Amino acid sequence: MRDLVNQPRPQGTPSIAPDSGRPLRPTDEETAAAADLLRLAAFAANIGLWDFDAHSGVLTANGVFRSLHGLAADQKFEEEEFRKCIHPEDRARVEAALVALGTNETTDRLDIEFRVVRRDDGAVRTLRSSGARIPGGAAESQRFVGITLDVTSSKLAEQHLREASQHDALTGLPGRGLLFEYCSHLLAMAQRTRSSGAMLFIDLDRFKPINDSHGHGVGDQVLQQVAKRLLSCLRQEDIVGRLGGDEFVVAIPHPDDRYGPATVAKHVIAALEQPFYVDNLQLHLSASIGISLYPRHGNDLDSLLKAADHAMYLAKEGGRSRYQFFNSQDEGNGAAEMQIESLLREALDLESLQLVYQPVVDLQSGMTVGAEALLRLPLKGGDVMTPDVFLPVAESTGLINRLGEWVLAEVGRQHARWCQAGLPGMSVSVNVAPQQFRQRKFVAQLADSLKKSGMDPCCLQIEIRESTVLEDVPQALVALEQIRQLGVQVALDDFGTGFSSIGLLSSLPVDKLKIDRVFVQSIGHDAHSQTIADSVLALGRTLNLKVVGEGIESESVYSYLLEHGCNQAQGYYFSKPISAGEFERWCKQEQSHAQSVH
Ligand code: C2E
Ligand code: MG
Ligand code: MG
Repeated sequence: MRDLVNQPRPQGTPSIAPDSGRPLRPTDEETAAAADLLRLAAFAANIGLWDFDAHSGVLTANGVFRSLHGLAADQKFEEEEFRKCIHPEDRARVEAALVALGTNETTDRLDIEFRVVRRDDGAVRTLRSSGARIPGGAAESQRFVGITLDVTSSKLAEQHLREASQHDALTGLPGRGLLFEYCSHLLAMAQRTRSSGAMLFIDLDRFKPINDSHGHGVGDQVLQQVAKRLLSCLRQEDIVGRLGGDEFVVAIPHPDDRYGPATVAKHVIAALEQPFYVDNLQLHLSASIGISLYPRHGNDLDSLLKAADHAMYLAKEGGRSRYQFFNSQDEGNGAAEMQIESLLREALDLESLQLVYQPVVDLQSGMTVGAEALLRLPLKGGDVMTPDVFLPVAESTGLINRLGEWVLAEVGRQHARWCQAGLPGMSVSVNVAPQQFRQRKFVAQLADSLKKSGMDPCCLQIEIRESTVLEDVPQALVALEQIRQLGVQVALDDFGTGFSSIGLLSSLPVDKLKIDRVFVQSIGHDAHSQTIADSVLALGRTLNLKVVGEGIESESVYSYLLEHGCNQAQGYYFSKPISAGEFERWCKQEQSHAQSVH
């Protein structure tokens, strides 16, 4: 990007004398004074000025434009750098608009609003760019000049105004429409990040008699106090709204260990059991609460609300002032879930969880270079439960953080045992759940477990799903940077279609991409999936990241990945996940075989 204010004025844009309409060439002093005035005015009003050649893609801008993107005003940056600042969700739209300027000659104006993730502090701001095609000869018809403003505060004010009109006038809580809008956002986010959530349907018991015997004025004041008490039971990120009458809904994103839906329901019941005072009256209420869980009880808002409503009805039937998880036709669900929860708690308390290890093979040398630790919940009779069954419960109950902590500690202990047994330098991969990664204390926890076990940080690798990073890029950037400083490696797990831009990926401090096994397993069968696997391999080469193929079950897929430059591999073709002892024997056998060959 070039510096706008120091650019010579392009030929062919004549200035006009104000009184005569006659084109005049200004003197050099006049030009310099005008440029200076423009520079100062733009600086004072915080206006980014830009000049964009849609034909060549060359962007020229002033210092304010750069600082609006979180770059030092005098820092040079390329167009690619500018694109990297655009919020991932807005990038495709902005790029399409820029391409349209160059390809569609009837597009004479650019008016676009988009978010940027500032490069200096990671803050998200909303910018508005407006400009127009500069008329002139054919050579200049691709030239657009305009300004960029930071409109974050007016956007926020607009949003507050809109939201205020959608709030329930009596309690100040979001009304039905806004509540559904918020919940849809939460749901979309949970779907994107494969995380969990809970919905509480709260209905007041004995409210109607208060209204009937003391009048609506008193009833209204009670509802206002109820709203306040509900708010006091919740975290800031939870949502509570009034559906109407004496019905309220609470949505809990990312419930965690100490803050699961049952705990919230207990707090709400306890808070509403306290007497209400209106004028000289002392009034008593209670609440019946139905709970539904995402994704277990439904994938859309309607089903979750219906499930919670149904459960609330059962809670009322069961004696009021109580809560009930959704537990309808396939009542097995709720019960099974509670059983899994208690098995998990027991296994955590008794430290009876198990890790199995799947060997990771270097494709070039054919040697095992490490293992991925995979969690198992042992059951009576020697069976084990796999993560696809217990992880959703661990996430919705918040137990996932305790599980994650245990896994890190156990991997540290196991690594030390392997070192003692003569297997130094093995790298071990640990999966980190989205909820765990989002915790502020995660990096400290990681550092602590490394310290306790004495494990060499470069032998530890954490695996985070691609979707977890995309959910909150600025937060992920900060956390990943800190993890990298610890010396721990990072792999993006289940990698495939999430990243729309190489720019964003290249700015992430990660070491490996693990191709989602869905795509690996389709190699040779499904052209579309194969193209995705190929693109991940190409991305890895371009960005100098190792690529791991997982879920390899056949010779043909193995050969394909080897020929296409994949670095490492995992899959039943080499070995299923095995116990720590079996892994040790596996490596030793391999070592003695290698020695006998040499
Ligand atoms: P993942 O990290 O993608 O792990 C790979 C999964 O693929 C493992 O399933 C593994 O057993 C399976 N797999 C490996 N090779 C093959 C193959 O050739 N064919 C087939 N069909 N499957 C193969 P697993 O152990 O059931 O784990 C499933 C997921 O659960 C993991 O996916 C990971 O996301 C999660 N998970 C496992 N352990 C943990 C843990 O300790 N913490 C967290 N947060 N998540 C975990
Ligand atoms: Mg994994
Ligand atoms: Mg995976």
